[in-house]
Amino acid sequence: MVAFSNSHDFAVSMDKKDPLAHFRERFHFPKDPSGNTLLYFCGNSLGLQPKTVRAYIEQELSDWEHLGVEGHFQAKNPWMPYHEFLTEKMANIVGAKPLETVVMNSLTVNLHLMMVSFYRPTNEKYKIVIEKNAFPSDQYAVKSQIAFHGFNPEEALIEVSPRQGEDMLRKEDIEQLLEEEGHAIALVLLGGVNYYTGQAFDIERITMAAHKNNCLAGFDLAHAAGNIELQLHDWQVDFAVWCSYKYLNSGPGGISGCFVHEKYADDTSLPRFAGWWGHDKKTRFLMGSEFYPISGAEGWQLSNPPILPLASLRASLDIFEEAGMQQLVQKSKLLTGYLEFLLLEMKNDRIQIITPKDERGAQLSIRIKNSNKALFNQLIQTGVICDWREPDVIRLAPVPLYNSFVDVYTFVQRLKSVL
Ligand SMILES: *Cc1c(COP(=O)(O)O)cnc(C)c1O
Repeated sequence: MVAFSNSHDFAVSMDKKDPLAHFRERFHFPKDPSGNTLLYFCGNSLGLQPKTVRAYIEQELSDWEHLGVEGHFQAKNPWMPYHEFLTEKMANIVGAKPLETVVMNSLTVNLHLMMVSFYRPTNEKYKIVIEKNAFPSDQYAVKSQIAFHGFNPEEALIEVSPRQGEDMLRKEDIEQLLEEEGHAIALVLLGGVNYYTGQAFDIERITMAAHKNNCLAGFDLAHAAGNIELQLHDWQVDFAVWCSYKYLNSGPGGISGCFVHEKYADDTSLPRFAGWWGHDKKTRFLMGSEFYPISGAEGWQLSNPPILPLASLRASLDIFEEAGMQQLVQKSKLLTGYLEFLLLEMKNDRIQIITPKDERGAQLSIRIKNSNKALFNQLIQTGVICDWREPDVIRLAPVPLYNSFVDVYTFVQRLKSVL
């Protein structure tokens, strides 16, 4: 344990000791109109642009310019197998085998594709468990899948919520629900980290409880990938999906990641929505009419993927590989711990950190009692980018790849000045 101290000198000394500090230089930080660098705490929403992204994309533009269609095979990084260049790096970030990992489509699309294969309701076992106040897109996707199978979302959707007067979901409550109602539940679909509260769920325990009751377990890792330690393979997760534009810095609307556990790699009993890019690579261009899926997650691909977004994601994954997920998680705990320490040091009754101390990633969600958006607007006037969620929550994500201890210290000074 590091003994934190509430001073600028201390923050500077932490940055000096930080083995990852130099990665900050690899990112573009937004500036205000007078050219002052803004404090950026929105990496949970849109990660910053790696400075190398431009060159990665320009390589593909140049190959397209000079080679046209021949770029599929003759580009410096041939487009035909381009997505494969990202597989192993992405697999390492989520604790998966390359066979279990693919980058394709966008998040909500992948969520639907996974439910097509893994939500197989019967008249007895048809319910889906999600967290109350799950991200809206997930709610819409799940309800529409339930309705698509002819069930009533009002009845078939179970939303687990925190106990009265609490903000956090207790894993024992999820376990109890599965024990009691598991016979009617087909699928448990939770976030890895809740986007609003910042609570990280115990994916391993929830997966175990689901399997014990013959339910499948899928996870939306939008706020978890590149943020917390994940071991999807070892935890026996059935499937997972995540976007890459939050902690993974691939740029707005960036391409998504998808995990399908090895145990389904060649399971032809699973229905799926198929497309030609999921077809066996050896015979894809024979253009036959029978679909033979590639073994593993790649078999769920539909279309040939967009190379430019893959290029920008690749630039970012190369940085992740260099920094190492373990080291990032280690720094993240210190950095977010320091933010928490400074907020508590303020000894201001109006501030309540709703994110649980031992179940979280980088993000802290802080409730500011008796406040409204005017306070937040004042805060951003001081040169901070963070975000506001009605009615009274500020979400802050000090990102270990590019945020510093001095960033955190400076932020708290600015928060004090507006309170
Ligand atoms: C960010 C986020 C999304 C966004 O979905 P897209 O399909 O990428 O637009 C969905 N679900 C969760 C939980 C998210 O955090």
